[in-house]
Amino acid sequence: MLSNSALKFQSLCRRLHTIRLELNNNGDSLRLSSLTRFCLVPKSGADNKEGVVKSSKTTALGVNAKYVVTQQIRKYAPTTSSTNAESACWNCKQGGRKNHMICTSCGYLQDVNAEINYFDLLDLQNSFSLQQQELTRRFRQLQTLVHPDKFSNKVTREQNNSADWSALINKAYKTLSAPVERGQYLLRLQGEHMPQDNSALNTEFLMEMMELNEKVDETNSRESLQQINNDIAQQLKEGVQVLSEKFDSKALNEAKFLLVKMKYLISVQNSIKNKLQKMEDS
Ligand SMILES: [Zn+2]
Repeated sequence: MLSNSALKFQSLCRRLHTIRLELNNNGDSLRLSSLTRFCLVPKSGADNKEGVVKSSKTTALGVNAKYVVTQQIRKYAPTTSSTNAESACWNCKQGGRKNHMICTSCGYLQDVNAEINYFDLLDLQNSFSLQQQELTRRFRQLQTLVHPDKFSNKVTREQNNSADWSALINKAYKTLSAPVERGQYLLRLQGEHMPQDNSALNTEFLMEMMELNEKVDETNSRESLQQINNDIAQQLKEGVQVLSEKFDSKALNEAKFLLVKMKYLISVQNSIKNKLQKMEDS
């Protein structure tokens, strides 16, 4: 019984590790290292181990570890105001931009401002709740404006800018469309990151996730797997509603915890999808 639980716990840890990797790959400053640390090293030794890592980092880089963390967050945290990066036009040297992209004097497409706040770019309020239809409408409008076909006869700089803006608009749209991505992005805008200790996780959460994992592992009927998937979809739907309330009331710690949980639920959904796919293949 005990070793069985240990195995399941290991499986849970692997999944949490995957979530952490995903976050890192997205260039996300939200740290989930506390999750994996919780799993991989005994709690009593965790602090010491972290201490060693930190001090070696300090020596290697010749800077304070805390500074490194701050730098990383700053790197990924977009500015709340995009006006600073929107300097004079590279062509006519005048100021002023339409939709952050086009010079209002000469109409030339400006260089991409990668630091732009995605909400500003899509002309939306910096808020978790948004109208998906409105987001999609704005996205299409902007994509039409910078579509590379429209710049094929223009100077190289405008051609390149058109491709760059197009990619950025896609990225902004993708980020804001998915509630979990949007939530993480909003946290980053507010300079928030995942807490470095284990306080964000409670036993209840871990047990709940372990049981869910177990249920998926042990279920071999297509209908039952789909039922679990539907239940998760419902939980995610409710989660979006709660997230909206948490962001509105500035309960950011609760929003963070909920985001971790939702990311986990999405990863379980992916497992179910893979399992169903395998059943179909065999
Ligand atoms: Zn100009």
